[in-house]
Amino acid sequence: MAAGAVLPLAGVPLAIKDNMCVIGTRTTCASKILGDWVAPYTATAVERLLRAGALPLGKTNLDEFAMGSSCENSALATTHNPWDPTRVPGGSSGGSAAAVAAGEAVIALGSDTGGSIREPAAFCGVVGFKPTYGRVSRYGLIAFASSLDQIGPLSKSVEDAALVYDLMAGKDPCDATTVDRPVEATLGGFPKDLAGLRVGIVRDFALDRLEPDVRAVYEAAYGDLQRLGADLVEVALPTADYGVATYYLIAPAECSSNLARFDGMRYGLRAEGADVLETYERTRAAGFGNEVKRRILIGTHALSSGYYDAYYVRAQKARTLIAADFARAFEACDVIACPAAASPAFEFNAKSDPLAMYLMDYYTIPMSLAGVPSLSVPCGYVTPQGSDKPLPLGLELTAPLFAERLLIGVARAYESGTQHAAHRVPPVLEASAR
Ligand code: GLN
Repeated sequence: MAAGAVLPLAGVPLAIKDNMCVIGTRTTCASKILGDWVAPYTATAVERLLRAGALPLGKTNLDEFAMGSSCENSALATTHNPWDPTRVPGGSSGGSAAAVAAGEAVIALGSDTGGSIREPAAFCGVVGFKPTYGRVSRYGLIAFASSLDQIGPLSKSVEDAALVYDLMAGKDPCDATTVDRPVEATLGGFPKDLAGLRVGIVRDFALDRLEPDVRAVYEAAYGDLQRLGADLVEVALPTADYGVATYYLIAPAECSSNLARFDGMRYGLRAEGADVLETYERTRAAGFGNEVKRRILIGTHALSSGYYDAYYVRAQKARTLIAADFARAFEACDVIACPAAASPAFEFNAKSDPLAMYLMDYYTIPMSLAGVPSLSVPCGYVTPQGSDKPLPLGLELTAPLFAERLLIGVARAYESGTQHAAHRVPPVLEASAR
């Protein structure tokens, strides 16, 4: 940048999810296997923000290798929800969401493979934005499931998310999956209302499955969209119901391949054995946590000969159908609105069954499989029985591929036309929230 040029993020404190490389600093992925690993280069997305003047505050906690929905799978740290420290911040970008909600960082980076920006944003009452797959470089993001992983911002306002996205987005020669297509700036020129906008309400995501108080918040959010001028139209995503099952074949398959590199030979932990094979085994047994091991096992099985067609290929076909559902829905509407999660943040240890945890991403996984841009914006609060602590909920808005400008504009109009934004209603912090 030329001398005297204005740096758009000059002095703005930035928190970085600890699966993104920053040269000379530890990048752990919240895993023992990378506990002491120091990155030799900086992720492109981070680099672009640093060049714009952002001040890196530090790295934030996550579920190990971004596998989880609560940060409880972190092997290195615990993150509490700033709204109620007895509850999880969501995951896997829970550290980033909590840091922004608690006012520690102004902006944070997260990564989203099946919901890991949007679900923690919803749980912590901040904005979390997953761009179109291929919009933001993954160079320097430690891979979990490469066909799904996408970096995005978490922030207190839609405008901040727009600013960060505009700086990060665009082709990167270091990541062949970034799309070579001009980036439409999302910042500025925001619509003042939603007049004439067709908002799709998903028939297959019926709100009567939700607890009555949660349902009431989402009904009110749909009502607000209408009050702001939008026409609500019913759309169908009939195969979205297969999203979680599809994702839990594709993501573990890719993870089993991506995580094969952690073998004690080149980087990270090394637990010496009598020979190479035993060194691999000891390193991986000691270095990976249970959820990561579970995914490697599922993924290896799904890719193994004899099962490849039955599981992996079938899941890819289902993914194609889900993407086609979105394309069809967007013929009838401009954006889709739905809950970001079926409930507010839950208490620690509440989801001991892995399947219960996987279902937390019911509303976010289909968008990841389709690659479409999607965000969560605060839309209201519920206070659980016996508690005096309100817990935020997030409205998930989704747009067609590359329609980031439209999506951000709609989210911004919703945010300005309602009273739920994080910068208007911060959590009351407790001394015990550490
Ligand atoms: N919770 C989902 C999982 O565990 C999504 C994670 C993510 O988006 N990184 O895989």
